Amino acid sequence: MLALKKAECFSVEQLQNLQTKRFKNLLRHVLKYSRFYQSYYKKHGITLDNLENISVIDLPPISKEIMMDNYDDFVCDRFLKRKKIEEFLSSSKEPREKYRNSYTVIHTSGSCGTISLFVYGPDDWAVIKALLVARVVKPNIHFLRRIKVSFIGATDGHYAGVSLASEVPRVFGRFLPLSINSPLETIDQKSDAFHPDVLSGYSSGIHLLSQEQLKGNITIRPERIICTSDPLTFEMRNTIKQAFGREPVNFYAGSESLTMAAQCERHENLHLFTDWHIFEAVDDDLRPVAAGTPGNLLLTNLYNYTQPLIRYQMHDEVVINEQPCGCRLPFPTIRNLAGRQEEFLWFDTAEGKPDYLHPIVLVELFVAGLKKFQVIQTQRNEMLMKVIIDGNKEAVLAAIRQRMNEIFLGKKLDKTVKLNLEVVEYIPNDPKTGKYKLIIPLKN
Ligand SMILES: [Zn+2]
Repeated sequence: MLALKKAECFSVEQLQNLQTKRFKNLLRHVLKYSRFYQSYYKKHGITLDNLENISVIDLPPISKEIMMDNYDDFVCDRFLKRKKIEEFLSSSKEPREKYRNSYTVIHTSGSCGTISLFVYGPDDWAVIKALLVARVVKPNIHFLRRIKVSFIGATDGHYAGVSLASEVPRVFGRFLPLSINSPLETIDQKSDAFHPDVLSGYSSGIHLLSQEQLKGNITIRPERIICTSDPLTFEMRNTIKQAFGREPVNFYAGSESLTMAAQCERHENLHLFTDWHIFEAVDDDLRPVAAGTPGNLLLTNLYNYTQPLIRYQMHDEVVINEQPCGCRLPFPTIRNLAGRQEEFLWFDTAEGKPDYLHPIVLVELFVAGLKKFQVIQTQRNEMLMKVIIDGNKEAVLAAIRQRMNEIFLGKKLDKTVKLNLEVVEYIPNDPKTGKYKLIIPLKN
């Protein structure tokens, strides 16, 4: 945390030097320990002998598919095997449980529907925790009592948000996970009883709570509000401010790196943490775009030595600004961080009341053997899941059904919503946008 604080006072040039040094260290590490990177880079003439003259743009990018298809060779730790990690995820739902007692495992299917794994060793995870506390949460320490942190989002598995939020209190406080997938009444009761000092979670979840506060259903007074995951729109920000009397802080995180950027006290720009990452905006042919113009994000995570991501293609469109923000931080900023807005699915409960299925529950759905899927609401209380399966078809289908049933049970929608599964070989992109659509709600 001291090193992070120090970097905040660096000049742009000092920051660049630190980034380059960390990049070279990581590159040396992957060329020594990752069989995948060794052979992938060798094809491009890059080896341990010539890496001194290599800069990040000389390296070929990688994608989620390349990473997952070569997983066991990709990671730098030979103990990590994709199959074993998936078995662990199938049996462990507690986000604080570590794989082999030391690795933090994060899984996501993401908006593009392909399931992927991200593993962090203890040293990698320590950097994340420090980034989170020093640059995002910045808690007011109470000397007479422990601080209370709550997180609203998907909480019953190894998802990025809850795994991270649950780490904060270990240092100095208490933690309450609020499952976005439980009935609204339960969420209200729990948050009212807990009275969080720090309210964190999905932007849409915090927005939901702010509406409940305005309706008088809850009365909480968080000192700090931290939004992430799904987009925080102008209207959502205003409602949250009105309800809690505080500006929410927006921060950018993904499974690929759990703390990439956060808003400064000016509450406008998100600063990219370039001491521990390299961010590049590129066009569809993966060529760099000019500063200030939109591009797809390529991420290099400089602290994950277990599963290193170097020029990894994210599915986020960003604009990287070189101009200073106006605050004291040396970090560049991003804007137009689109982030995909997936849609809520609305169903009726057995009592005839409308209740939602939050899109993140589907975005982060994990079932071993489920490679890709799409959800289509075919009638008010009926949905079709198109699934691409890898492995034993019947077993995977049963596992999907069981997981979806747990989700519906949590929302008390299990009695009313009918789920149909269809095994397919291929799921086309939306012909209108050319992009993958994970969730298609019922029209009107
Ligand atoms: Zn700033």
